[in-house]
Amino acid sequence: MNAALLARLRDAVGADHVLTEGELDAYLVDWRRRWRGRALAVVRPASTAQVAAVVRACAAHGVEIVPQGGNTGLVGGSVPDASGAQLLLSLQRMNRIRAFDADNLTLTAEAGCVLQSLQQAAAERGLRLPLSLAAEGSCTIGGNLASNAGGTEVLRFGNARRLCLGLEVVTPQGEVWDGLSGLRKDNTGYDLRDLYIGSEGTLGVITAATLELVPQPAATLTALAACAGLDAAVALLRLARARLASGLTGFEVMARHALELVETHFPELPRPLPPAPWAVLLELDDAQGEQPARGRLEALLAEALEAGTIGDAAVAASLAQADAMWQLREAIPLAQARDGLNIKHDIALPVSRIPAFCAATEAALRAALPLARPVVFGHLGDGNLHYNLQAPPGQAGADFVATHEDEVNRIVYDAVLAHGGSFSAEHGVGALKVHEMAARKPAVALALMQRIKQALDPQGIMNPRRVLPPPAR
Ligand code: FAD
Ligand code: ZN
Repeated sequence: MNAALLARLRDAVGADHVLTEGELDAYLVDWRRRWRGRALAVVRPASTAQVAAVVRACAAHGVEIVPQGGNTGLVGGSVPDASGAQLLLSLQRMNRIRAFDADNLTLTAEAGCVLQSLQQAAAERGLRLPLSLAAEGSCTIGGNLASNAGGTEVLRFGNARRLCLGLEVVTPQGEVWDGLSGLRKDNTGYDLRDLYIGSEGTLGVITAATLELVPQPAATLTALAACAGLDAAVALLRLARARLASGLTGFEVMARHALELVETHFPELPRPLPPAPWAVLLELDDAQGEQPARGRLEALLAEALEAGTIGDAAVAASLAQADAMWQLREAIPLAQARDGLNIKHDIALPVSRIPAFCAATEAALRAALPLARPVVFGHLGDGNLHYNLQAPPGQAGADFVATHEDEVNRIVYDAVLAHGGSFSAEHGVGALKVHEMAARKPAVALALMQRIKQALDPQGIMNPRRVLPPPAR
């Protein structure tokens, strides 16, 4: 049976793009190196018609499909399971920009386009695609939309969903839905686009998208500020919103221990400010130009210093200094990976509840695991923290995760829910949080999702056992 399927796949995409042997780790092992899968084949179609042919072939043979873009996902949803029976469908060869519409402020690109290449293409036309994350050099727009990625500019421009006006999707039956409109208003029935965004490959394959662009600002400025506590960071956010209004595009926090881990693994990175309990990274866009922007940012920081909200601050004087500040922030997940396997939480809370949540959770974790090393950072402007834990010094990461993950998750997620939050803010559910979906998602919401899955993918071939637990009988 597999021989017949493989022959059909080779017919569809060419024998060179049906890989069954050789070095396939880049497709089969996830970025965190936590999940190692096997695949019947890695298939690399180059067009929507080829994707549709591949899906039809798999549907005919009842073979499960795992779509993959840049394989930078952090929840284990982008690699196949260990059975060796699933097909890994890589979208990387679908990397053409199909159209630009300067007056409509849109671009239409295929799913495998690397996010950074789209940012650059927009910049060449004096425009900007305001989606920005540390994985942007390798993640794809299809993966960003499939996981509804967030990143560092969400507080101003929203997550991937808000930037997407249209989609092209191959359904689990191998039909092509062309929804690539560049419309900002279209109330014609259920919103299929919003259904596919964030579905993590479980409802179909995203093959292209129309994205909303914004004009490039005249100036962008970056600053770092030191805060004694999260209360102060929240107060700084309130002040920054009041003084900078929609110019505020980024507001990130980094705990001292997160930056210490960066220092250990990236000692070459400069530290513009002396260590403090929390560092805040602010970004300001300004349509008026650099001088007025600098004036507004410096006035804000002076006011915050005067009020005792911050202890210290530095405004980047050049692009190089701004990059160095962002490198500190973006190096945190990389430093964690270098340090060893760790326990990650990507949580959302109302901004107002974050100081209380962190105080309660830190106390509970210290009581349970006094030697584990917390690494807390994230997008405070969106109420999204990466609340991670590194193994105690001397303990192997894999051992720490195997022994303590359940207990740590219980502590963190109980506190998240008690403070009105979500156990997945921007990374999605994947394989990692299916158990949390079963245990913590309201039963009616879960049942509705399962009915949608059943209606769209009755054969259950699209990224099965990810996102949703099996329906209760
Ligand atoms: P993959 O990892 O290949 O896939 C992710 C999921 O989408 C999988 O379930 C896969 O099956 C599905 N999928 C992929 N392509 C398609 C498609 N075309 N059609 C249907 N389903 C598809 N995320 C954030 O939101 N914010 C951050 O700030 C952030 N920072 C990160 C920093 C680092 C260093 C890393 C490694 C990751 C980070 N992430 C962040 C995780 C984030 O989800 C991914 O980087 C990105 O959005 C995934 O894109 P990808 O192309 O790599 O998708
Ligand atoms: Zn993030």
